Amino acid sequence: MTFPVDTLGRPIHDLRISVTDRCNFRCTYCMPKEIFGRDYEFLAREQLLSFEEIERVSRVFVRAGARKIRLTGGEPLLRKDLEHLISLLSAIPDVEDLTLTTNGSLLARKAEALKAAGLNRVTVSLDSMDDTVFMAMNDVGFPVQKVLDGIEAAAAAGLSPIKINMVVKRGMNEDSVVDVAEHFRGTAHVVRFIEYMDVGTTNGWRLDDVVPGREIVEMINARFPLEPVDPDYRGEVAQRYRYRDGSGEVGVITSVTQPFCGDCTRVRLSAEGQVYTCLFASQGTDLRAPLREGASDGELDAAIAALWIRRGDRYSEIRTSQTVSIKRKVEMSYIGG
Ligand code: SF4
Repeated sequence: MTFPVDTLGRPIHDLRISVTDRCNFRCTYCMPKEIFGRDYEFLAREQLLSFEEIERVSRVFVRAGARKIRLTGGEPLLRKDLEHLISLLSAIPDVEDLTLTTNGSLLARKAEALKAAGLNRVTVSLDSMDDTVFMAMNDVGFPVQKVLDGIEAAAAAGLSPIKINMVVKRGMNEDSVVDVAEHFRGTAHVVRFIEYMDVGTTNGWRLDDVVPGREIVEMINARFPLEPVDPDYRGEVAQRYRYRDGSGEVGVITSVTQPFCGDCTRVRLSAEGQVYTCLFASQGTDLRAPLREGASDGELDAAIAALWIRRGDRYSEIRTSQTVSIKRKVEMSYIGG
């Protein structure tokens, strides 16, 4: 079978599916309250792809080469009966990895059911170990301990290896880097430190807000010596490091200071069925209309192949202060990061 490759020779490997644009947090870098307030109009139920529609589209992408599926949001665990979707997706042959990114708030309650439905593992966002900092970032007063309870429940349910994602923003939580590393050192969980990115247009991003991955590694290395590890597979976004004393591993995702577009094999599906070939795209391609108008599998396969072979995205490699402010980009809360 031949799979489509884009104009830069990149195949499709990772499919990221947003199942809702809603979230119960208001992280200042993602869904700032001033914009996503009471009057904000989220997608209506009938606009969302149904679970059966998501399954059908997923099969199209798997036929086009995708082997990894990640569910995102908003906060994916807010979507009712998500376990049902997971059981549909876990039955698709050739899906090698089925995972989910969550803020962890509902994980303690849901971990077992998610595992039973066929989810392999989870990635949990956690931006600090310090309640004051964490609450200021999530902006809804959510405490660290509840996220830790979720992580523990996920580990107990066997949703591992668990990854912990920490977005590092200058002046906001850089002092938490070593604390978070220390907390998870000696566990099987892998913390990934993510450079703060200019996703969307609502978070007022500035280059000065970015703490470069190099600096993050230096901070941790000064306290707990690290050494680099080779990537696992083409397209792996995190640069990996392990503690020299054997007490585990961390990663840094340097999308701003050392972009990795050359190996970007990710495609994103929004909750309403728009396909985005880059996190920084301003426009998607609608799949919901053809789906609901009765397109055949062959027609959907052809539509995805045609879209992918035209793809030339490499936003992070061509980012300048101008692209940041001029280009209209899809919001992270809509497309799932
Ligand atoms: S900027 Fe776009 S093409 Fe580059 S790595 Fe990110 S999602 Fe992929």
